[in-house]
Amino acid sequence: MSATPEKTLCVIIGSGPAGYTAAIYASRAGLNPIVYTGPEPGGQLMITTDVENYPGYPEGVQGPTMMDEFRKQAERFGTDVRNEMITKVDFTGPVHKLWTESGHELHTHTVIISTGASAKWLGLENETRLASTGGGVSACAVCDGFFFRNLDVAIVGAGDTAAEEAQYLSKLCKNVHMLVRRDEMRASKIMQERVMKAENIHIHWNTETKDILGEEEVEGALVFNNKTGEEKVIPVQGFFVAIGHKPNTDIFKGWLDMEDTGYLKATPGRTFTNREGVFVSGDAADHIYRQAVTAAGTGCMAALDAERYLTEKGIV
Ligand code: NDP
Repeated sequence: MSATPEKTLCVIIGSGPAGYTAAIYASRAGLNPIVYTGPEPGGQLMITTDVENYPGYPEGVQGPTMMDEFRKQAERFGTDVRNEMITKVDFTGPVHKLWTESGHELHTHTVIISTGASAKWLGLENETRLASTGGGVSACAVCDGFFFRNLDVAIVGAGDTAAEEAQYLSKLCKNVHMLVRRDEMRASKIMQERVMKAENIHIHWNTETKDILGEEEVEGALVFNNKTGEEKVIPVQGFFVAIGHKPNTDIFKGWLDMEDTGYLKATPGRTFTNREGVFVSGDAADHIYRQAVTAAGTGCMAALDAERYLTEKGIV
């Protein structure tokens, strides 16, 4: 730890597809970016197994392998990747101040926030185990639904995401068991109606998950009715959790405009936040698409916006 703040042009916070894509563009533009990887280097794809919807990988790719390649590509152009976390910021400006968890202070002209969002989980032991081994537990139906074609699956949640994902799964799977913990859904009326209309979506009201069964792969969900206490096993091969995401934006509270849910507000179609020189990319500002390829796209945009900002200010 040095007492003199480190001075730099561009710091990227976060190391998912958005952060590394921003790094590739920023380093090729000569901005010598520093990437702080955060607590989950590689981001959400590190807990995914097969990625089959990212263009350029016709045979699919393992999530961790893909993120390793993203990192290598960023490093090839000189990105300084640091396995540390930014824990405090001061955007009073015009130069932005950042502190790492070990107390190192940086002064930077631009910041690209790519801290992403984390899926919320139920917190069951077998859920964590089977999600990390690719055993059939997932928090993303669009990413993983394909692996359960013509099989039976369960999905937990009753918001718009769960309703949308249940519909998506109903087109691929034989049966979709929707586990709703109350006797009503939070999802918008129209989404609820669509779910109710689908013949192969079975809604289990007042139902919570006690355990996910299966050693190597999901074999069933042990659920209970929270009104009657009655337990039953629903045989399924896939278990989806769609109970919301939490954007990793706590350290920006008070500095940047954000939605009540914590998602950062960006100028529509751009990556500008309400502070000059602070840009946002990826899931930290996107609760709608949340895909690796869209995150990578906005990472590119943020780097281009940062480069233009530095040029316009006469800094580079
Ligand atoms: P929400 O917070 O809206 O819903 C979360 C759901 O998960 C709720 O039904 C909640 O139940 C349930 N839940 C939470 N914790 C548990 C638990 N431990 N066990 C069982 N169930 C649980 O999150 P979403 O991701 O659905 O939506 C986030 C935002 O994004 C919303 O504003 C939504 O409208 C928006 N969105 C819009 C879409 C669209 O317009 N096409 C698509 C997707 C999202 P309970 O209701 O009992 O609290």
